[in-house]
Amino acid sequence: MKALKCRECGREYPLEATHVCEFDFGPLEVAYDYERIKKSLTREAIQSRPKTDVALPRAAADRRGADGGAQVGFTPLIKADRLAKKLGIRELWIKNDAVNYPTLSFKDRVVSVALSRAKELGFTTVACASTGNLANSVAANAASAGLKAYVFIPSDLEHGKIVNSLIYGANVIGIKGQYDDVNRLSAEIAGKFGWAFVNVNMRPYYAEGSKEHGV
Ligand SMILES: [Zn+2]
Repeated sequence: MKALKCRECGREYPLEATHVCEFDFGPLEVAYDYERIKKSLTREAIQSRPKTDVALPRAAADRRGADGGAQVGFTPLIKADRLAKKLGIRELWIKNDAVNYPTLSFKDRVVSVALSRAKELGFTTVACASTGNLANSVAANAASAGLKAYVFIPSDLEHGKIVNSLIYGANVIGIKGQYDDVNRLSAEIAGKFGWAFVNVNMRPYYAEGSKEHGV
């Protein structure tokens, strides 16, 4: 990683826990030093890496196995012959991403990367705004990585959706309002308490986790 870069104006920022451009509120994303990567990232180098360590932000990938995420990704492709026939196509494979661990959700991909990076940046408390799956994934992966977790949800969310978060020991906080209200409050809390919110100030790293859906 060489910087966080604004998708709108291209301004670059240090690789910290920040997610919006100060000039135009454009989203920040991870920019890589491809010239340097080109010299060492060969097919052989990738093949010799651990299976979980694909082409994620390198520092995050180093820690990912140790701090959670070791069983994320490499989900199976299922051949769907009858659906293929119905759709009139020759061959169809469906990626079964419901077998990620620990929470059987594709959110384990993004959360494990965001949490690894949060830990690397020195955070001890991680958090998220969620309506269910993300909360459970943050709770489980935080427990695995030894981080404190806070999840913020709309207060009228069905209990069944967040019972896993409670089992994993996260602090679950119901907010009166819609998801947008929860999200806005989370952005304020992230700034005030200096917590790593996976889908707020850690979003650039979190987004990298969703780029590995192909594996
Ligand atoms: Zn910008």
